[in-house]
Amino acid sequence: MSQADIAPPTLFIDGEWVSAVSGGTREIRCPADGTLVSTVDEADRSDAERAVAAARRAFDDSGWPSSSPWERGDLLLRVSDILVRDKETFARAESLDTGKRLVESRIDMDDIAACFRYFGKIAGTDAGRLVDTGSPDALSRVQYEPVGVCGMITPWNYPLLQVAWKVAPALAAGNTFVLKPSELTPSTAILLMRALTEAGLPAGVGNLVLGSGAEVGAVLAEHKDVDLVSFTGGLHTGRTIAAAAAATVKKVALELGGKNPNIVFADADFDTAVDYALTAVFLHSGQVCSAGARLIVQDEVHDALVDEIVRCAEQIRIGGPFDEDAETGPLISAEHLSKVEDYVAKSVAEGAVLRTGGRRPDGDRYARGHYYLPTVLDEVAQGSFAVSEESFGPVLTVERFTDEDDAVRIANDTHYGLAAGVFTADAGRGQRVANRLRHGTVWINDFHPYLPQAEWGGFKQSGVGRELGRAGLGEYQEAKHVYHNL
Ligand code: NAD
Repeated sequence: MSQADIAPPTLFIDGEWVSAVSGGTREIRCPADGTLVSTVDEADRSDAERAVAAARRAFDDSGWPSSSPWERGDLLLRVSDILVRDKETFARAESLDTGKRLVESRIDMDDIAACFRYFGKIAGTDAGRLVDTGSPDALSRVQYEPVGVCGMITPWNYPLLQVAWKVAPALAAGNTFVLKPSELTPSTAILLMRALTEAGLPAGVGNLVLGSGAEVGAVLAEHKDVDLVSFTGGLHTGRTIAAAAAATVKKVALELGGKNPNIVFADADFDTAVDYALTAVFLHSGQVCSAGARLIVQDEVHDALVDEIVRCAEQIRIGGPFDEDAETGPLISAEHLSKVEDYVAKSVAEGAVLRTGGRRPDGDRYARGHYYLPTVLDEVAQGSFAVSEESFGPVLTVERFTDEDDAVRIANDTHYGLAAGVFTADAGRGQRVANRLRHGTVWINDFHPYLPQAEWGGFKQSGVGRELGRAGLGEYQEAKHVYHNL
């Protein structure tokens, strides 16, 4: 099961593969059974500082920031082609690190290739605009320029996807970067640096450091030579990073958590609502920032809908990444599993009704992995811990509503605002509710689809800024006004 071709040196700094100065390493183990997947370097502050210095030099002294955006776009298209060519290698590496089903990793790889293709295609399409000065004797224009050195810090649930959403637009705009992926899932970031090199990325433009958040991630948030820090991860870490970044007033982009409502009206197609409610929350064992973990059901259909969801949840097949029958997999780590257990225990203690799950599955085949049964908590109280906090596991909470206003009020009663779903047969109502929801993405009669050309991000404490779409490129650009007195 091991990945023989991933071994130190695994830090990529100034165009070279190097080992951590301290000689530190970390073992990466598959969450499905604890098998050793690879050993990688464990960087410390000094490695991170070397990487920042390399990215700074490449930004200030190489021609990269002023290179043709069309050429940068071509490079991204070449990366996309490499990702398509090597899809299976990338997908297997992702599945080994995360325990995610191979079939899901393959879909992720298609999405990642599409992301590079999208930013490759739009890289040169918007240089800025002429501005009317009101005078024939003055010329005025606004032009877009790269921000500078970008620090990127990413999580373990969609390891390469979250990296792609940052690296592709940053390079399209002409920035240099230092990437620190999650210490739990570094493999595909290593493979991506190889792909960028093969595609022709100049030395120093893209740098990779592997290590802990507190050690290596903190350097990227604090360093005076980092102009922007783009972070995807938990709310608590996001606050720490924003506070650290404030000292140098660097730009901050945050993609944080969500406790995403999924509203089902009584007129919704029953089977469709059940199917989507299940995938909304149990995909990747609920380790999805936009998981529909908070079902909000109209009174009339509550009992029938929840009974059917419970029945189906009990039939979900659990297994490892290469188990073709599996419909969902393990959690990322023993530590995370114990957090999910605590979340369920606390929710039940405050009054939630445990309808199914709430424990690890029986059987020897699950003993060495971090598995947890699909869980349904019914009759949770509004404003309670269960509906306010993200479990980031396979746990569905259920609330009831009476009418449209009630549904919108309950769904908006959260400090998060990442994504939401609405199931109804009434198209007008679907649109009305979507317009009133304070969430960055709203799906009507669907859950989870996203497009590289459509912005992604959070309202309220789900984040700051947007990834993907035109605005996703804009995060990595400065607008400069040039006024010329003729
Ligand atoms: P996390 O916040 O624990 O870690 C994310 C990254 O931050 C890791 O690389 C980690 O090493 C680093 N980090 C930790 N402490 C740090 C510090 N003090 N300074 C700098 N970096 C630090 O999150 P996680 O457990 O890896 O991921 C799960 C979370 O990510 C969930 O809350 C989920 O909702 C969120 N997420 C959000 C999106 C989105 O698009 N909004 C996407 C995926 C995941």
